[in-house]
Amino acid sequence: MFESEDGLKINANVLEQLQEWNLIPCEGQYLCARGHPLKLLECTASSDGFVWRCRKISKSGKQVRTCNQQISLRKNTFFDRSRLSMVKLIAFSYFWLKNVTQDFIIEELSITRPTAVDWCNFCREVVYDGMVVKGRKIGGVGSIVEIDESKFGRRKYHRGHAVEGQWVFGGVERGTNKCFLVPVEKRDKETLLAVIKNWILPNTTIVSDFWKAYDCLSDEGYVHFKVNHSVNFKDPETQQHTNTIEGFWRHVKYPMPQYHRNKKFFSGYLAKFMFVRHCKHAGLDPLSNFFKLAGALYNPLNPYMPEEAEDFEIEVMEEE
Ligand SMILES: [Zn+2]
Repeated sequence: MFESEDGLKINANVLEQLQEWNLIPCEGQYLCARGHPLKLLECTASSDGFVWRCRKISKSGKQVRTCNQQISLRKNTFFDRSRLSMVKLIAFSYFWLKNVTQDFIIEELSITRPTAVDWCNFCREVVYDGMVVKGRKIGGVGSIVEIDESKFGRRKYHRGHAVEGQWVFGGVERGTNKCFLVPVEKRDKETLLAVIKNWILPNTTIVSDFWKAYDCLSDEGYVHFKVNHSVNFKDPETQQHTNTIEGFWRHVKYPMPQYHRNKKFFSGYLAKFMFVRHCKHAGLDPLSNFFKLAGALYNPLNPYMPEEAEDFEIEVMEEE
Protein backbone atom coordinates (compact mmCIF):
# COMPACT_ATOMS: atom_id res chain seq x y z
CA MET A 1 0.00 0.00 0.00
CA PHE A 2 2.74 2.46 0.95
CA GLU A 3 5.01 1.67 -1.99
CA SER A 4 3.03 3.81 -4.37
CA GLU A 5 1.85 7.31 -3.68
CA ASP A 6 -1.33 6.53 -5.63
CA GLY A 7 -4.22 5.38 -3.55
CA LEU A 8 -2.87 7.28 -0.55
CA LYS A 9 -5.28 10.15 -0.95
CA ILE A 10 -7.57 10.68 1.96
CA ASN A 11 -11.28 10.19 1.48
CA ALA A 12 -14.30 11.92 2.96
CA ASN A 13 -14.39 9.56 5.96
CA VAL A 14 -10.78 10.28 6.90
CA LEU A 15 -11.44 13.98 6.40
CA GLU A 16 -14.32 13.82 8.86
CA GLN A 17 -12.09 12.01 11.35
CA LEU A 18 -9.40 14.68 10.97
CA GLN A 19 -12.00 17.35 11.67
CA GLU A 20 -13.19 15.49 14.75
CA TRP A 21 -9.61 15.57 16.06
CA ASN A 22 -9.39 19.31 15.24
CA LEU A 23 -6.49 18.62 12.90
CA ILE A 24 -8.27 20.49 10.15
CA PRO A 25 -11.05 23.08 10.59
CA CYS A 26 -14.69 22.41 9.88
CA GLU A 27 -16.43 24.23 7.03
CA GLY A 28 -17.65 27.62 8.12
CA GLN A 29 -14.76 28.17 10.53
CA TYR A 30 -12.11 28.88 7.96
CA LEU A 31 -12.18 32.14 5.98
CA CYS A 32 -10.43 33.30 2.83
CA ALA A 33 -8.28 36.46 2.89
CA ARG A 34 -11.35 38.47 1.93
CA GLY A 35 -13.29 37.08 4.88
CA HIS A 36 -15.59 34.63 3.07
CA PRO A 37 -16.13 31.12 4.47
CA LEU A 38 -14.07 28.50 2.61
CA LYS A 39 -15.43 25.23 1.28
CA LEU A 40 -13.65 21.87 1.24
CA LEU A 41 -13.61 20.60 -2.32
CA GLU A 42 -12.21 17.47 -3.91
CA CYS A 43 -9.24 18.34 -6.04
CA THR A 44 -7.37 15.76 -8.07
CA ALA A 45 -4.52 18.21 -8.74
CA SER A 46 -3.72 18.42 -5.02
CA SER A 47 -1.69 15.58 -3.52
CA ASP A 48 -3.98 15.61 -0.49
CA GLY A 49 -7.07 15.13 -2.67
CA PHE A 50 -8.91 18.12 -1.18
CA VAL A 51 -8.43 21.89 -1.04
CA TRP A 52 -10.10 24.81 0.64
CA ARG A 53 -11.68 27.08 -1.92
CA CYS A 54 -13.81 30.19 -1.75
CA ARG A 55 -16.90 29.97 -3.93
CA LYS A 56 -18.27 33.37 -2.96
CA ILE A 57 -19.89 35.12 -5.91
CA SER A 58 -19.82 38.88 -6.07
CA LYS A 59 -21.60 41.13 -8.52
CA SER A 60 -20.67 44.61 -9.49
CA GLY A 61 -22.90 46.01 -12.15
CA LYS A 62 -23.19 43.32 -14.82
CA GLN A 63 -19.93 41.60 -13.83
CA VAL A 64 -20.27 38.37 -11.88
CA ARG A 65 -17.07 37.05 -10.25
CA THR A 66 -16.22 34.11 -8.06
CA CYS A 67 -13.66 34.85 -5.33
CA ASN A 68 -11.92 31.51 -5.94
CA GLN A 69 -9.18 31.93 -3.34
CA GLN A 70 -7.58 28.59 -2.55
CA ILE A 71 -5.72 27.29 0.50
CA SER A 72 -3.96 23.96 0.83
CA LEU A 73 -5.70 21.43 3.08
CA ARG A 74 -2.56 21.07 5.23
CA LYS A 75 -1.72 24.79 5.58
CA ASN A 76 -0.80 25.50 9.22
CA THR A 77 -1.86 21.99 10.30
CA PHE A 78 0.30 19.34 11.95
CA PHE A 79 0.79 17.84 8.47
CA ASP A 80 2.23 21.11 7.17
CA ARG A 81 5.58 20.13 8.69
CA SER A 82 6.14 17.37 6.15
CA ARG A 83 5.72 16.72 2.46
CA LEU A 84 4.72 13.08 2.98
CA SER A 85 1.13 12.12 2.22
CA MET A 86 -1.27 12.49 5.14
CA VAL A 87 -1.94 8.75 5.05
CA LYS A 88 1.77 8.04 5.54
CA LEU A 89 1.98 10.59 8.33
CA ILE A 90 -0.98 9.00 10.09
CA ALA A 91 0.59 5.55 9.66
CA PHE A 92 3.93 6.89 10.90
CA SER A 93 2.33 8.31 14.04
CA TYR A 94 0.60 4.97 14.65
CA PHE A 95 3.89 3.04 14.38
CA TRP A 96 5.67 5.62 16.55
CA LEU A 97 3.12 5.16 19.32
CA LYS A 98 3.60 1.39 19.07
CA ASN A 99 7.32 1.82 19.87
CA VAL A 100 8.48 -0.10 16.81
CA THR A 101 12.02 0.60 15.60
CA GLN A 102 12.82 3.47 13.30
CA ASP A 103 14.24 0.97 10.79
CA PHE A 104 10.88 -0.80 10.66
CA ILE A 105 9.04 2.46 9.96
CA ILE A 106 11.54 3.51 7.27
CA GLU A 107 11.15 0.21 5.48
CA GLU A 108 7.38 -0.10 5.78
CA LEU A 109 6.66 3.46 4.66
CA SER A 110 9.51 3.69 2.11
CA ILE A 111 10.81 6.93 3.59
CA THR A 112 14.30 8.30 4.27
CA ARG A 113 15.96 8.39 7.67
CA PRO A 114 16.08 12.22 7.92
CA THR A 115 12.32 12.27 7.23
CA ALA A 116 11.77 9.67 9.95
CA VAL A 117 13.96 11.57 12.43
CA ASP A 118 12.06 14.79 11.72
CA TRP A 119 8.64 13.24 12.16
CA CYS A 120 9.72 11.54 15.40
CA ASN A 121 10.75 14.98 16.66
CA PHE A 122 7.38 16.46 15.72
CA CYS A 123 5.55 13.56 17.41
CA ARG A 124 7.59 14.00 20.60
CA GLU A 125 6.83 17.72 20.50
CA VAL A 126 3.09 16.94 20.43
CA VAL A 127 3.15 14.65 23.48
CA TYR A 128 5.52 17.03 25.29
CA ASP A 129 3.03 19.85 24.76
CA GLY A 130 0.07 17.70 25.83
CA MET A 131 1.64 15.94 28.80
CA VAL A 132 4.18 18.47 30.12
CA VAL A 133 3.39 22.00 28.93
CA LYS A 134 -0.37 21.44 29.40
CA GLY A 135 0.11 18.64 31.94
CA ARG A 136 -2.12 18.32 34.97
CA LYS A 137 -0.85 18.11 38.54
CA ILE A 138 -1.17 14.76 40.29
CA GLY A 139 -2.08 13.91 43.88
CA GLY A 140 -4.39 15.93 46.13
CA VAL A 141 -5.97 15.39 49.54
CA GLY A 142 -6.04 11.67 50.34
CA SER A 143 -3.71 10.74 47.47
CA ILE A 144 -0.30 9.18 47.92
CA VAL A 145 2.50 10.07 45.52
CA GLU A 146 5.81 8.24 45.61
CA ILE A 147 8.79 10.27 44.42
CA ASP A 148 12.32 9.29 43.50
CA GLU A 149 15.28 10.17 41.30
CA SER A 150 16.97 7.73 38.96
CA LYS A 151 19.98 7.98 36.71
CA PHE A 152 19.56 7.02 33.07
CA GLY A 153 22.63 5.75 31.26
CA ARG A 154 26.01 5.12 32.78
CA ARG A 155 29.18 7.08 32.22
CA LYS A 156 29.92 6.81 28.53
CA TYR A 157 32.86 7.79 26.42
CA HIS A 158 32.06 9.49 23.19
CA ARG A 159 34.70 11.05 20.96
CA GLY A 160 37.03 11.12 23.91
CA HIS A 161 34.60 12.92 26.24
CA ALA A 162 33.10 11.32 29.28
CA VAL A 163 29.32 11.80 29.04
CA GLU A 164 27.49 11.41 32.31
CA GLY A 165 24.09 9.80 32.44
CA GLN A 166 20.98 11.91 32.98
CA TRP A 167 19.16 12.22 36.28
CA VAL A 168 15.40 11.96 36.02
CA PHE A 169 13.07 12.98 38.81
CA GLY A 170 9.71 11.23 38.85
CA GLY A 171 6.55 10.71 40.83
CA VAL A 172 3.72 8.17 40.63
CA GLU A 173 0.29 8.49 42.21
CA ARG A 174 -0.53 5.22 43.90
CA GLY A 175 -3.72 3.56 42.62
CA THR A 176 -4.23 5.71 39.51
CA ASN A 177 -0.72 5.39 38.02
CA LYS A 178 -0.72 9.07 37.09
CA CYS A 179 2.89 10.15 36.86
CA PHE A 180 5.42 12.83 35.98
CA LEU A 181 9.01 12.51 34.75
CA VAL A 182 11.38 15.46 34.55
CA PRO A 183 15.07 15.42 33.54
CA VAL A 184 17.04 17.38 36.14
CA GLU A 185 20.61 18.66 36.14
CA LYS A 186 20.89 18.76 39.94
CA ARG A 187 19.22 16.93 42.78
CA ASP A 188 19.33 19.79 45.25
CA LYS A 189 16.38 21.08 47.28
CA GLU A 190 15.70 24.08 44.97
CA THR A 191 15.53 21.97 41.82
CA LEU A 192 13.44 19.13 43.24
CA LEU A 193 11.07 21.34 45.24
CA ALA A 194 10.32 23.43 42.13
CA VAL A 195 9.40 20.25 40.22
CA ILE A 196 7.31 18.95 43.15
CA LYS A 197 5.35 22.21 43.40
CA ASN A 198 4.86 22.20 39.66
CA TRP A 199 3.56 18.62 39.54
CA ILE A 200 2.06 17.66 42.91
CA LEU A 201 -1.04 19.29 44.41
CA PRO A 202 -0.82 20.69 47.96
CA ASN A 203 -1.83 18.40 50.86
CA THR A 204 -0.76 15.28 48.95
CA THR A 205 0.90 12.53 50.98
CA ILE A 206 4.40 12.18 49.55
CA VAL A 207 6.56 9.11 50.19
CA SER A 208 10.28 9.41 49.47
CA ASP A 209 13.63 8.02 50.52
CA PHE A 210 15.92 9.77 53.01
CA TRP A 211 17.53 12.11 50.43
CA LYS A 212 18.12 15.38 52.31
CA ALA A 213 16.55 17.57 49.61
CA TYR A 214 13.15 16.21 50.68
CA ASP A 215 13.42 17.28 54.32
CA CYS A 216 11.53 20.50 53.59
CA LEU A 217 8.37 18.82 52.26
CA SER A 218 6.33 18.86 55.50
CA ASP A 219 6.97 22.62 55.71
CA GLU A 220 5.83 23.10 52.12
CA GLY A 221 2.22 21.96 52.49
CA TYR A 222 2.65 18.20 52.02
CA VAL A 223 2.27 15.20 54.32
CA HIS A 224 5.66 13.55 54.10
CA PHE A 225 6.88 10.01 54.90
CA LYS A 226 10.45 8.82 54.48
CA VAL A 227 11.24 5.15 53.94
CA ASN A 228 14.15 2.97 52.93
CA HIS A 229 14.34 2.33 49.23
CA SER A 230 14.03 -1.24 48.08
CA VAL A 231 11.21 -3.14 46.48
CA ASN A 232 9.01 -5.00 48.95
CA PHE A 233 10.12 -2.90 51.88
CA LYS A 234 7.38 -1.68 54.20
CA ASP A 235 8.16 0.61 57.09
CA PRO A 236 7.06 -1.42 60.15
CA GLU A 237 5.73 1.68 61.93
CA THR A 238 4.03 3.69 59.18
CA GLN A 239 3.41 0.83 56.69
CA GLN A 240 4.71 3.21 54.03
CA HIS A 241 6.73 2.02 51.02
CA THR A 242 8.04 3.09 47.62
CA ASN A 243 7.39 -0.18 45.80
CA THR A 244 5.31 1.55 43.13
CA ILE A 245 8.05 3.89 41.94
CA GLU A 246 10.75 1.25 42.28
CA GLY A 247 8.87 -0.92 39.77
CA PHE A 248 7.97 2.14 37.72
CA TRP A 249 11.62 2.92 36.81
CA ARG A 250 12.00 -0.48 35.19
CA HIS A 251 9.06 0.30 32.91
CA VAL A 252 10.43 3.73 31.98
CA LYS A 253 13.88 2.41 31.16
CA TYR A 254 12.84 -0.74 29.32
CA PRO A 255 11.80 0.83 25.97
CA MET A 256 14.57 3.44 26.14
CA PRO A 257 16.58 3.42 22.91
CA GLN A 258 20.12 2.09 23.08
CA TYR A 259 21.48 5.59 22.77
CA HIS A 260 20.06 8.86 24.01
CA ARG A 261 20.53 12.20 22.41
CA ASN A 262 20.22 15.72 23.71
CA LYS A 263 18.03 17.01 26.50
CA LYS A 264 15.10 17.90 24.27
CA PHE A 265 15.03 14.37 22.93
CA PHE A 266 15.12 13.05 26.46
CA SER A 267 12.21 15.22 27.63
CA GLY A 268 10.23 14.14 24.59
CA TYR A 269 10.99 10.50 25.24
CA LEU A 270 9.77 10.81 28.83
CA ALA A 271 6.65 12.69 27.69
CA LYS A 272 5.87 9.86 25.27
CA PHE A 273 6.20 7.35 28.09
CA MET A 274 3.81 9.45 30.22
CA PHE A 275 1.36 9.70 27.32
CA VAL A 276 1.28 5.99 26.44
CA ARG A 277 0.95 5.09 30.12
CA HIS A 278 -1.84 7.61 30.61
CA CYS A 279 -3.79 6.15 27.66
CA LYS A 280 -3.32 2.61 28.89
CA HIS A 281 -4.54 3.32 32.42
CA ALA A 282 -7.40 5.56 31.32
CA GLY A 283 -8.53 3.04 28.66
CA LEU A 284 -8.02 5.57 25.85
CA ASP A 285 -7.01 4.84 22.26
CA PRO A 286 -3.45 6.20 21.89
CA LEU A 287 -3.77 7.14 18.21
CA SER A 288 -6.94 9.23 18.46
CA ASN A 289 -5.74 10.86 21.66
CA PHE A 290 -2.39 11.60 20.07
CA PHE A 291 -4.11 13.38 17.18
CA LYS A 292 -6.34 15.28 19.59
CA LEU A 293 -3.17 16.60 21.22
CA ALA A 294 -1.74 17.40 17.78
CA GLY A 295 -4.96 19.24 16.90
CA ALA A 296 -4.75 21.22 20.14
CA LEU A 297 -1.16 22.28 19.35
CA TYR A 298 -1.55 22.93 15.62
CA ASN A 299 -4.69 24.95 15.06
CA PRO A 300 -4.87 26.44 11.55
CA LEU A 301 -7.29 29.08 12.86
CA ASN A 302 -4.62 30.19 15.34
CA PRO A 303 -1.37 28.98 13.77
CA TYR A 304 1.34 27.46 15.91
CA MET A 305 4.78 28.86 15.13
CA PRO A 306 7.28 26.17 16.03
CA GLU A 307 10.87 27.14 16.73
CA GLU A 308 13.40 26.14 14.14
CA ALA A 309 14.30 22.48 14.48
CA GLU A 310 17.26 22.04 16.78
CA ASP A 311 20.36 20.09 16.01
CA PHE A 312 19.66 16.64 17.37
CA GLU A 313 23.09 15.30 16.70
CA ILE A 314 24.92 16.65 19.75
CA GLU A 315 25.94 14.59 22.74
CA VAL A 316 25.20 11.18 21.36
CA MET A 317 25.62 8.59 24.08
CA GLU A 318 26.27 5.12 22.81
CA GLU A 319 26.14 1.85 24.65
CA GLU A 320 29.53 0.27 25.09
ZN1 LIG B 1 -13.31 34.62 -0.74
